[in-house]
Amino acid sequence: MGYQNVKFPEDSVFLVTGGAGFIGSNLCEAILNLGYRVRCLDDLSTGKQENVDLFIDNPNYEFIEGDIKNLEICMEACEGIDYVLNQAAWGSVPRSIEMPLFYCMNNIMGTLNMLEAARQKGVKKFVYASSSSVYGDEPVLPKKEGREGNLLSPYAVSKRADEEWAKQYTRHYDLDTYGLRYFNVFGRRQDPNGAYAAVIPKFIKQLIHGERPTINGDGQQSRDFTYIENVIEANLKACLAPSSAAGEAFNIAYGGREYLNDIYKGLVDALGVDIEPIYGPDRAGDIKHSNADISKAKELLGYDPDWTFERGIKAAIDWYRENL
Ligand code: NAD
Repeated sequence: MGYQNVKFPEDSVFLVTGGAGFIGSNLCEAILNLGYRVRCLDDLSTGKQENVDLFIDNPNYEFIEGDIKNLEICMEACEGIDYVLNQAAWGSVPRSIEMPLFYCMNNIMGTLNMLEAARQKGVKKFVYASSSSVYGDEPVLPKKEGREGNLLSPYAVSKRADEEWAKQYTRHYDLDTYGLRYFNVFGRRQDPNGAYAAVIPKFIKQLIHGERPTINGDGQQSRDFTYIENVIEANLKACLAPSSAAGEAFNIAYGGREYLNDIYKGLVDALGVDIEPIYGPDRAGDIKHSNADISKAKELLGYDPDWTFERGIKAAIDWYRENL
């Protein structure tokens, strides 16, 4: 369980793209804590300088400010790298509906540049962030790899395209690629601010500040909210996965299902506030329910998540209490 006992060759070097963001900065931290070297490549478009400053004094950490839309920068960043953890992308379904061209350039071309650079520089493993959004309107639960529906947003198209490109790089160029379909990740350092913020950090911040959060729709939507530690475990274990599992995408979640109204109530109770939510309209491109079958990742990556939603939400609340 977990990732504390994973072992890599002593001189291993990782590249985390999007390493100044929420998931990427947690990956950098975990790699440093395990004693390996990590290079972070980020254009700071949605990421934060403060997530770089946290590690900049560590001799095992290196930061390149740069854009994965630029192949030359990707080539420079992949020099001497064993494992790529490609997290750089813009998230948010609604924003992607407003900016389809940007999502194509950034999320698809950016990842394609990284695949090409990884291939040319002889990277051992290429692990990349995909998303549960690739299941689109498929209603059957739990979501299972191989049973995807119609895509509902440019963001989902970008993640699906990344998976298809990664498959080509495994098929034709022997690059071991592993796609991780994250399901609603939450935890420390997730940005609570802005119109496109994820619900958990946004609600915690608003409740701490005595503001009334807005729940989109009736709050009866459910998600497989996944604590960041489980995502770190999946990334590290994918780097150690056999080549026979390459060219595939895997659900990365806890395998549970939480309703938004219940989460809201849990947060209100945990924070000791008495604030009613505002109910707003449904969001375009959103699905009603989502939860994951994680058996494929368990079987082929040895993924064995040990952070339940309850354990994770407690840790997240504690972190925001101290850091907001
Ligand atoms: P985030 O916005 O906190 O991090 C993304 C990072 O990528 C940011 O630091 C940003 O500056 C950087 N970036 C974006 N475009 C870039 C570019 N062209 N060049 C270099 N850097 C660039 O988001 P996150 O939640 O940490 O997401 C990380 C990855 O996981 C993304 O690929 C996202 O689509 C995927 N994902 C996240 C979730 C979730 O619940 N957070 C769910 C599914 C998938």
